[in-house]
Amino acid sequence: METLKVAVSARALFDLEESHALFLEQGAEAFIAHTREMQDVPLSPGVAFPLVKGLLNLNRLSGRKEPLVEAMVITSFVPAAGIRILKSIDHHQLPIVRSSFTGNVPTVDYLDAFGVDLLLSKSAEDAQAAIRRGIAAAIMYDLPKAGDLDHDFQIRIAFDGDAVLFSDESERVYKARKLPGFLENEKANVNVPLADGPFAKVLRIINDLQQIEINGRKPFRIALVTARGGDARERVLRTFDSWGLSVDEAHFLSGFPKAGILKAFGPHIFFDDQDAHVGPASEVVPSGLVPWANPIDEVQVAQT
Ligand SMILES: [Mg+2]
Repeated sequence: METLKVAVSARALFDLEESHALFLEQGAEAFIAHTREMQDVPLSPGVAFPLVKGLLNLNRLSGRKEPLVEAMVITSFVPAAGIRILKSIDHHQLPIVRSSFTGNVPTVDYLDAFGVDLLLSKSAEDAQAAIRRGIAAAIMYDLPKAGDLDHDFQIRIAFDGDAVLFSDESERVYKARKLPGFLENEKANVNVPLADGPFAKVLRIINDLQQIEINGRKPFRIALVTARGGDARERVLRTFDSWGLSVDEAHFLSGFPKAGILKAFGPHIFFDDQDAHVGPASEVVPSGLVPWANPIDEVQVAQT
């Protein structure tokens, strides 16, 4: 059984926006001094907190010796700013025992060294570097304004299709030949499986972990939420078959807005490669942008 190895940045796990603003306005020294002064004040949960907490909870509930999930905090903060992070991990009783403070150096080489499968970060640069290295990664948007998760242990994840689970080969056809050309292409290639996208490996590991039962249920519930519709649907289902993988729900929206559908599903996290989807979704559910098909300069996310 594989283990899902997740790395989360300090700013994605905890709400560090106040310190980050100080860093941007007054520089590194003021930021370090502030975190040291505040080290006994626990940080509030950030956008990736519910997912990470829920994933680690699966290890406890499964009662297995081997963990389903390993989570670590990786951040380009200097170690001198680290005490508040460690104390906040303790305060929230997160069983995270591994962390790297890379001291203003990009995290990507260390992600590789740790064998990380998934990075959740507020840093567009770190997420983009990870994707280029073949590691699934997302730039996390801000916390949703409202809506708490229920207390079900089952982890719900929603994935977009093209340029997330699948490669962007069909997306490129769409851009070149518009909707009619795209639909024609998908119909003509209905029996040709789509190639792996940046999150295909994560879906494979989750499918493997689905064999473990917790209270008689699977540990994850996975939904595909895609703008595809009409003649572009069947190729997706055939691709899952050819991969030997399954999802629990598939929503082919044919242009219907994603946010309402996501709110109904209530995922711990949603991954999509387009800001036009991630933006509205992030108002209602924790959401991350997969920086693959998108040029990075289109991404309106603050840098670490
Ligand atoms: Mg897409």
